Amino acid sequence: MIGRSHLVLGVACGLTAAAAGWVPLSWPIVIAAGLGALAPDLDTERSMLGCRMVWLSRPLSRMVGHRTVTHSFAVPIAAGWVSWHYLGQAALDSALGAFLIGYVSHILADMMTGGCWAFYPLSRNRLSLWPHAKAGSFREYLLLVACLSLLGWFSYRCLVHEPRQEKLKFGHIPLIALSGPGEYEQQQNSAVMRS
Ligand SMILES: [Zn+2]
Repeated sequence: MIGRSHLVLGVACGLTAAAAGWVPLSWPIVIAAGLGALAPDLDTERSMLGCRMVWLSRPLSRMVGHRTVTHSFAVPIAAGWVSWHYLGQAALDSALGAFLIGYVSHILADMMTGGCWAFYPLSRNRLSLWPHAKAGSFREYLLLVACLSLLGWFSYRCLVHEPRQEKLKFGHIPLIALSGPGEYEQQQNSAVMRS
């Protein structure tokens, strides 16, 4: 996917996350989601961010190549886990969480437009979910429209149908992953009973 499409998709993902209550809605959140969606392409100086940060993108491009290490889910997972471990849940409920959401959106989008090393270091295969859409092609725009429609529908559901329900914060996701949904709900219930 080309830079402009990544930017639009990343911002849309940030807004959807805000609609779902995972992160607050603010300008820093929107900007962070957009930057996160551009960050993986720092591995090429031909990208939107890479051409403005050649001092970083040029050596990175020589060292790892395009759509490899920086396009692995391991990067946002590791960054999210380290932030959660050292800074706590609040760090993931902030612009950092939005940045990581944008980052993940970039990897998913590239998996649909040519593929990338999504599961590095487990695999060095270029994983492609839909090999028929090339970056910058008409099919890419179709894919972008489909993704934006899906995100719009999900945001609408969150805002209209479930506005009063307590929203799941982005920072709760690693807690649920570690303890399981049942245990997480028990922790929440016992915290409510104590208060
Ligand atoms: Zn990319």
